[in-house]
Amino acid sequence: MSILDINKIRQDFPILDEKINGKNLVYFDNAATTQKPLVVLDALANYYGHYNANIHRGIHFLAEKATSAFEESRTAIQQFLNAKYKEEIILTYGTTDGINLVAQTYGRKFLKEGDEIIISTLEHHSNIVPWQMLCEEKGCILRVIPIDDNGDLILEEYEKMLSEKTKFVSVVHVSNALGTINPIKIIIEKAHEVGAKVLIDGAQAASHITIDVQTLDADFYVFSAHKIFGPTGMGALYGKKDLLNAMPPYRGGGEMIKEVTFEKTTYNELPYKFEAGTPNIADVVAVKFAIDYINGLGKANIAAYEDELLVYATQQLSEIEGLRIVGQAKEKVSVISFVLDGIHPQDVGVILDQQGIAVRTGHHCTQPLMSRLKIPGTSRASFAVYNTIEEIDKLVAGIHKVKKMVL
Ligand code: PMP
Repeated sequence: MSILDINKIRQDFPILDEKINGKNLVYFDNAATTQKPLVVLDALANYYGHYNANIHRGIHFLAEKATSAFEESRTAIQQFLNAKYKEEIILTYGTTDGINLVAQTYGRKFLKEGDEIIISTLEHHSNIVPWQMLCEEKGCILRVIPIDDNGDLILEEYEKMLSEKTKFVSVVHVSNALGTINPIKIIIEKAHEVGAKVLIDGAQAASHITIDVQTLDADFYVFSAHKIFGPTGMGALYGKKDLLNAMPPYRGGGEMIKEVTFEKTTYNELPYKFEAGTPNIADVVAVKFAIDYINGLGKANIAAYEDELLVYATQQLSEIEGLRIVGQAKEKVSVISFVLDGIHPQDVGVILDQQGIAVRTGHHCTQPLMSRLKIPGTSRASFAVYNTIEEIDKLVAGIHKVKKMVL
């Protein structure tokens, strides 16, 4: 039994009181985005209602208040990832933005024709396409770590791929489609042995797993706020200070400069060198409240409770005839992807929605993974700390209804 008071936690998330098609909402699409607690909603309203101002440039009261709230969020993210220096935290628009930043700056400057970049079969499109674009431009070679039928990476194959040609490894920490937790510490160690740099896509890991970029020795780590109970369109890139300093800027504009003349521009210090233009200040401010919320519950407590949900759901869903769980990795977070014999995932999603149950169906932005598994897509239920065993029972009843209606 969890030490968390789940009923009390549910009261922190007003959206959970919504009725969908006349039914109480059962929100099992947390891997796509999590819901937001009141503290985050209040932080957004409070910023706009009481201290909306542009940051860093103003000397008036509101500008200073907004700037310090903005920078407090950077510190909160630094602690959340256990980064050594505050300036190693670059505020971005999300995971996709962070990966593109690294590919377009580090990649363009330091990678050249014939260099190899390794990703894995489990990657989200956002950790495939930016590298393909770079390969197209620079003539680098993209290599892909295979998986076994359970959805675990085949590490021996990864080790065989590594050579002095390997210059970059970019791998997902936790698969959004299958829930697989990758052994990223080993992956990073092995890459470093051949001198390659490593980026970890932490989009799905950040709300479930305690992250320590120093212990991991990650060169880059990216995540999105909207998957950790924070706002959309905001995220962070951690990068080792020396690497970030050596990288050229990403977007040009205000804030990222030291001095501009028509002849020459010099660039700002870290982290501002990578933060051109007015950012989404309110969302950055609010992310600190999301992190505080997680810390208040305790990540280990959240993970333990989500694990209870995962074990129960796996057990219950396995008993449904004709249902196959896709992805049975050794270590998983609370994501269950499944297929039903003779029923298209789209139909599963539509009929569950009629019962107020929100799941995701399709390829989950992992088309190459679906091809490897020889399926067009799955239905995916992903759990967060505010979900309950009763809701999983509703999902099971819902799936029986799908079968009755379609078969
Ligand atoms: N990587 C993974 C593993 C994800 O789950 C997602 C979001 N589904 C992303 C990257 C992209 O995140 P965002 O859309 O917030 O940039």
